Amino acid sequence: MLLANATLPDGRRADVHIVDGLIASITAPGLPAADLDRRDLAGALLLPAFIDGHIHLDKTHMGAPLVPHVPGESVRERIAAERVARHAVPLPVEARATNLLRRLVANGTTRVRSHVDIDNDVKLANLEALLAVRERWRPWVDIEIVAFPQSGVVSEPGAPDLLDAALAAGADLIGGLDPEGFDHDVPGQLDIVFALAEKHGKGIDIHLHDGGETGGAELRDIASRTEALGLQGRVVVSHAFSLGDQSPESFARTADALARAGVAIMTSSPAAVPVPPVKALRRHGVTLFAASDNIRDCWSPFGNGDMLDRAAIVASRQEFYANDDLRLALDLATVEPARALGITGYGLVPGAPADLVVIDTPSAEEAVINRPPRKLVLRGGVVAAENGVVAEALPA
Ligand SMILES: [Zn+2]
Repeated sequence: MLLANATLPDGRRADVHIVDGLIASITAPGLPAADLDRRDLAGALLLPAFIDGHIHLDKTHMGAPLVPHVPGESVRERIAAERVARHAVPLPVEARATNLLRRLVANGTTRVRSHVDIDNDVKLANLEALLAVRERWRPWVDIEIVAFPQSGVVSEPGAPDLLDAALAAGADLIGGLDPEGFDHDVPGQLDIVFALAEKHGKGIDIHLHDGGETGGAELRDIASRTEALGLQGRVVVSHAFSLGDQSPESFARTADALARAGVAIMTSSPAAVPVPPVKALRRHGVTLFAASDNIRDCWSPFGNGDMLDRAAIVASRQEFYANDDLRLALDLATVEPARALGITGYGLVPGAPADLVVIDTPSAEEAVINRPPRKLVLRGGVVAAENGVVAEALPA
């Protein structure tokens, strides 16, 4: 296949030649197209396909009638409400996850990391559903699964054994949740999480909403445990709101510890809480990326599985207005999550898999500003979606 007259993120025009699912060459326009499936992009923007490095495929209500949102003051109250409400959703996990994956792929995402609830109520049922969904969707999207203790590790009886079983059954990473704010036992939760990671040789992705100096101390604890176990590059902390709410001294100390330990930070950049300052953390050498998190579930009725929308939300929240900053917002949905998730051979480079998205816009900056439609999504050089419609090559 030849993608002719593409606009690259840096503004150059190029022809991109794809052979055997890989990018073979990126050259100035004018490559002869004899015997090639030639598609003239007429200057449309070409990006590596998006990566959504934090979603909850088992929680989404996508495709089901609206489930009224039940507000909760604390994380514990909201979890209690969710454990009731999730049994009232009239579609099984497989169907809802499929509906969301259809949106994700149509919008240009071909790699995701999904957390899956593991607790005494659902046990491994949601994991088993997502493992089946992952196999069905493998032609169009890579799905990493985090065994997520949404109801706590120490405070949920039996949770460590369930998490152990989830990792043995095929979960790729072990999760965690507010060791102080939820379990009120930082060493207790982190001992279990890191021991399970070591036992199964898997990475870690922890939800950390704990704010201020408490959250900062937890981040430094996570960083030192990461170094001690040699897990550099395999640990993510999601949210890490405390990074937006620490003294300058402890912010610098925490950022340096995260950078040294290779612990990456995910931010969805919600409006109502302090959020990690992306550019300040990057100056300390910390890897950050943007992701959707909750999409139309008990936690939020909003979200659409469009990483361009998420890039715009993060850009707006972080006041990314200059051209360099708008391109950084796109990087937070492409090359930065690839780095954080340890995805190698990614990007607009010869030899990388041809997972690509064509966006109907003349520049990277305007992609973030206007969030235009996706014309084409390629997965390993094969058309996965065109004009917002996913190709129906999936087995039933
Ligand atoms: Zn989450």
